Amino acid sequence: MNVQVFKILVFGIALYIGRPTIYADESITRFPVSGPLQSMVLEKDMTPNDTLPRGWIDMQVLDSDVQLDIRYATPNNFVNEVLYPCGRCILREQVAKALESVHASLREQGFGIKVFDCYRPLPVQQKLWNKVPDARYVTPPAKGSMHNRGAAVDLTLTDAKGNPLDMGTGYDFFGEEAYHTYTDLPEEVLQMRALLRKEMEEQGFKHIRTEWWHYSFQEQQYDLADFLWPCDGI
Ligand SMILES: [Zn+2]
Repeated sequence: MNVQVFKILVFGIALYIGRPTIYADESITRFPVSGPLQSMVLEKDMTPNDTLPRGWIDMQVLDSDVQLDIRYATPNNFVNEVLYPCGRCILREQVAKALESVHASLREQGFGIKVFDCYRPLPVQQKLWNKVPDARYVTPPAKGSMHNRGAAVDLTLTDAKGNPLDMGTGYDFFGEEAYHTYTDLPEEVLQMRALLRKEMEEQGFKHIRTEWWHYSFQEQQYDLADFLWPCDGI
């Protein structure tokens, strides 16, 4: 067997071993986080994005001006625990492109965006549920949230210099002051909430009534996913 044929054969075997497995009963797509395929395809000059499953993208690879404050990668969240190995905003490509358009429009008006959470692996959803088994605050993992599908983003507005603006409550504030229907707030706060909502909805995102920071992209139904993103090279 010549060397070229041998290489193709080995690569073919690695592709077969590394293929995503679809679990029909749960409709969860599992991707290997390590293994022969990954070690073969990783090259020194690849960006972190190249290690993600097909159809997913790192938001900052698409738009490096999007600011991150990924709270589940720190203890600064409502369960006071670090749940992600590192803070990255991973989204389905179509969702990330819609968010890029939102950002471009806001930037023209002198604003920016800061992101608190994007794709959330299903095992992390389970951890949150174990801590807070209350469907008012955490989506049950059996159902799965839009974050578990890579189709939701939690974010706030900033000024042109990146300073977060007053939105009335902090992130993950569970109370009616965070509702879109709550209007007993300063006029500037109401205007900022309305601006974020208008810009997001124009690009296909939908709001939910109880969280001013949460938007889901619902033009397509995506499967639940459970891969963890790599932290090398960031
Ligand atoms: Zn959310």
